[in-house]
Amino acid sequence: MHEFAFKNNELYCEDIKIAEIAKRVRTPFYLYSYKTLIDHYRKIKNAFRTIRPLICFSVKSNSNLAVLRALIRNGAGLDIVSGGELYRARLAGCDPKRIVYAGVGKRRDEIEDAIRFGILFFNVESEEELEEIQNAAFRLKKKVNAAIRINPDVIPRTHAYIATGKGETKFGLDFETVHKIFNTGWKYPNVNIGGVHIHIGSQILDASPFEKAIKKVLVFLKECNIKISYFNIGGGLGIVYSIENPQTAKSFARKILPLLKRSGLKLILEPGRFISGNSGVLITKVIYTKITPRKKFIIVDSGMSELIRPSLYEAYHKIVPVKVPRNSSETAEKIEVVGPICESGDFLGKDRFLPRLVHGDLVAVMGAGAYGFTMSSNYNSRPRPSEVMVIGNKFYVVRRHERYGDLVRGETIPKVLK
Ligand SMILES: *Cc1c(COP(=O)(O)O)cnc(C)c1O
Repeated sequence: MHEFAFKNNELYCEDIKIAEIAKRVRTPFYLYSYKTLIDHYRKIKNAFRTIRPLICFSVKSNSNLAVLRALIRNGAGLDIVSGGELYRARLAGCDPKRIVYAGVGKRRDEIEDAIRFGILFFNVESEEELEEIQNAAFRLKKKVNAAIRINPDVIPRTHAYIATGKGETKFGLDFETVHKIFNTGWKYPNVNIGGVHIHIGSQILDASPFEKAIKKVLVFLKECNIKISYFNIGGGLGIVYSIENPQTAKSFARKILPLLKRSGLKLILEPGRFISGNSGVLITKVIYTKITPRKKFIIVDSGMSELIRPSLYEAYHKIVPVKVPRNSSETAEKIEVVGPICESGDFLGKDRFLPRLVHGDLVAVMGAGAYGFTMSSNYNSRPRPSEVMVIGNKFYVVRRHERYGDLVRGETIPKVLK
């Protein structure tokens, strides 16, 4: 469920007509619904409430400060993967004891910053990283917490680029190495290795690969007699983009809770897409229509620089007109929605049936709240769009669109070239 719905053939976000927002904010822009965001956070929180887990929202799915702040105010922690995300977490006012930090390539300075800030856990992805954390903690005279990320070697059914729990990916460590680390914990006197972590992939529609991975890890902990207090099961819950039928938070919890309850471990979850995905849309405007002998195109004012998911993952995003024209069903035609970028891979939707649209019409690209703005770029020297949040009947520009000056910020021409 989400708060983008038609009333009298006009698309609303919560209680505001999107067309009204577009009169005051130039397109393209991302539009987020506060209510949808919080509803989805609460769905997970409530589903697991009997064991009071720590829910760390995955910052990389949507890192806008207002989005982070909204979730933090409602009790969420954060899952970060870089020093830049740590910086955002601090600005958004996140309690450091509710931050966990994953990623295979944490740099020394990033590790030091996170130690100084006092985060809850590093999710460690290699032995060398663990040594780096030990050395940094020693220099800073601190004792830090770490969880070891295990690669459980399960194969979730999702796009290859977002499957992270297979043996051949770069993520986490194999069971044998993890065992060795727990046996040689004394080598890391400044690190309390108090948890394990898995994150098997993204947009996973049913609980079985999670169950499989969790069971594998629990058996491993028992067989090796490893005593820890936290089990971080990552994120990855899938959402509806078109005709998917994903598990609900409730049905997911029903399967996972019994496993965790028996273990007595404190649970951490890192949902990203599940919370932010359907909380955001990309609003874009038709610039031209074009008919070629083979196809009809509508060319809109955003493309892979604003939303790369269709190009990168062949992801499907529903596209709807912001105002449905009268007799729309009769004029519906098969079209390709493309952007202005100079790449043939630059499209938002292929083979779509949309009512006849003309220059100036607005369309909404649905389900763009996760991995939308955060994966946007300045390719083709396009300033990045603004982000807007709706709360009830008010809207707030939570990031202004970039200007041309922002494109060249930090660039200089060497004197010899002048
Ligand atoms: C990306 C990521 C997540 C969030 O994944 P979603 O599919 O958006 O829920 C959680 N944990 C880690 C370690 C990640 O890298």
